[in-house]
Amino acid sequence: MNKILIVEDEIAISDLIKIELEMKGYKCETVYDGEKAADYLESKKYDLVLLDIMLPNVDGYELLKYIKQISEIPVIFLTAKNQTIDKINGLNLGADDYVTKPFEVRELIARIEAVLRRYNKVNETQKIYNIEVNVVARTVKKDGKEVSLTPKEFDLLELLIQNKNFALYRETMFEKVWGEDFEFETRTLDLHIQRLRKKLDLKDKIKTVYKIGYMLEV
Ligand code: CA
Repeated sequence: MNKILIVEDEIAISDLIKIELEMKGYKCETVYDGEKAADYLESKKYDLVLLDIMLPNVDGYELLKYIKQISEIPVIFLTAKNQTIDKINGLNLGADDYVTKPFEVRELIARIEAVLRRYNKVNETQKIYNIEVNVVARTVKKDGKEVSLTPKEFDLLELLIQNKNFALYRETMFEKVWGEDFEFETRTLDLHIQRLRKKLDLKDKIKTVYKIGYMLEV
């Protein structure tokens, strides 16, 4: 599981990023000032840093210089609107990418994935029970034999794995996988769950959670 340090002093933004990234299966820590961030980076191990530029005590540029001296860890800058010069500065200093605020979380996640891939830090395969899921090739094997899933079934399986042992709300699952608002009468989600259970023999493992939704028990 990739671990990300979020250095952002706007707590609302920081919290939002953390929640969304954790939904995607990342492990996150947040820190709100540059000096403390340096302490964290010195004492703990992360796979990537999301770094705001305007920060209390030590700003993002200074922190980036510091990071580059102590480790090879990839950095994505979170820049405010219209800070074009900042972006150039950031990339010159060795940031791997930048995202302009306000940003779409999907865009941020896509950039994080791209940077991690460049650093070969993506965990390509995940194993649960006798099932092996390759999230890059998007293939699934059960007992070493490939099982064919539809794209939505795969997305759903990925979501369940990322949130294993956590009950997921049906609404959330639907919105994550189908990218649309949940309609109460729809059986689409339940149908896909049934298909997954059947195809992967996960009948007892993908649990129905009363009044909430579903949970993959591992
Ligand atoms: Ca800031």
